[in-house]
Amino acid sequence: MIKGFTRFLQSPGEHLKSLFGTQDAPAGGPVLRIIPREEHPVSRQLLSDSALKVLYRLHNAGFEAFLVGGCIRDALLGRQPKDFDVATDATPEEIRDLFRNSRLIGRRFRIVHVRFGREVIEVTTFRGKPGEDHGQHIAHQSDDGMLLRDNVWGSIEEDALRRDFTINALYYNIADFSIHDFADGVRDIESRTLRLIGDPATRYREDPVRMLRAVRFAAKLDFELDGTTEAPLEELAPQLLQVPPARLFDETLKLFMSGHGVATYHLLRDYGLFPMLFPETAEAFEELPWAEAVIEQALASTDQRVQRDRPVTPAFLFAALLWGPVQLHQRAHEADGMPPIPALQAASQRVVSRQLQHISIPKRFSLPMRDIWDLQQRLPKRRGKRAFQTREHPRFRAAYDFLLLREAAGEIEPGLGEWWNAFQNADEHEQRRLLGKVDVDPAGSPGPRKRRRRRRRKPQNAPSDS
Ligand code: ATP
Ligand code: MG
Repeated sequence: MIKGFTRFLQSPGEHLKSLFGTQDAPAGGPVLRIIPREEHPVSRQLLSDSALKVLYRLHNAGFEAFLVGGCIRDALLGRQPKDFDVATDATPEEIRDLFRNSRLIGRRFRIVHVRFGREVIEVTTFRGKPGEDHGQHIAHQSDDGMLLRDNVWGSIEEDALRRDFTINALYYNIADFSIHDFADGVRDIESRTLRLIGDPATRYREDPVRMLRAVRFAAKLDFELDGTTEAPLEELAPQLLQVPPARLFDETLKLFMSGHGVATYHLLRDYGLFPMLFPETAEAFEELPWAEAVIEQALASTDQRVQRDRPVTPAFLFAALLWGPVQLHQRAHEADGMPPIPALQAASQRVVSRQLQHISIPKRFSLPMRDIWDLQQRLPKRRGKRAFQTREHPRFRAAYDFLLLREAAGEIEPGLGEWWNAFQNADEHEQRRLLGKVDVDPAGSPGPRKRRRRRRRKPQNAPSDS
């Protein structure tokens, strides 16, 4: 067993091929293929102890219990699985009764969370075909085919065919450690193909978020979309406008904060999905050549941080994603004669309220996001006590990083970032010297004439400016 596993890690694709050959599925669609433990590399050492506990307890209580989805897919690809999903024939109530540390959640899709410290194991009951009447109205579909609720229990086969991609329909059976492959997922892992189960257009209509999942997995796993899975994307992209904003927020974080944000972003653009998530941003690209570069810079630095296990915040990312439209509106207000600070505030307000119709950004992220924007106007103003006050702002660090992005993206001339870098690292004496070097036309702020005029109005502006 161990030998098979090491061989697998050296060359996962090769090894699987040698195990299963390359013959295609017989006519009539995929058939269940059971891969015994000796023939696959998923060992219990790869799996979390908590997940195993859940599986064993279900099994010992007489239920079927499988690990399914991303964890088995990732393990077969030689990656360390990060979260574990369990599928069982126990109902949510039966699951809850078995685990003291569990909680029933979700309405649209009822599942049970079993908590072990910080780790949560998601346990779901096998789902059946939504169209069938099982006596209760527990599945519900909208006029355009979207599944609004989906709590019809079924068999494991039905459950498998209701999953999104073939590679996500692999089940690891705790009873004998075999893997059940219901949709030729192993074949697609070998050929690195992302393929929806069933008719792609129908599956996207049922749940438009599957379009986002398609590009997310393609980017994360470096897989190709199968032709039929790819074909409907552009046409069906507008279906995303029907998805509740709260769900799109969660999904957006997965798209951009899982370490493959840049690649994911490019796929979203290629398939016309991005404008469905950030319509005003996509429009701003036409007028502001740097707006897209700001986003790419933000995603690249987020990817790097994720890879190094450093913390990332949605506030920073959303600040970058919405900066283009904020700037367009601010400029329009200023052209109407509004001073820069209220112009930025009015622009932020408008852009955020428009964006919330698509993606709900919780206040705990939108407030710091707006601080980051506000600070962009304070960073160029450094004379007197201002540099010290700005330095003390709780969001200074994020705002400074954001300034660097803007410089790198070519929105503003470089220089100010360098100054702040020196100022942060300087002792008091050196700070005084740096302040002495600040003259009337710092990079990133309006020209000297305008500045002087504003300085004369300082008493009026002072409260909102400090
Ligand atoms: P990861 O956790 O790495 O993002 P995952 O495949 O485990 O990937 P989850 O969102 O954790 O993704 O979902 C677990 C499993 O549930 C998936 O593998 C898939 O089988 C199924 N699933 C999730 N979302 C959908 C969906 N929108 N439509 C159909 N099946 C889904
Ligand atoms: Mg998962």
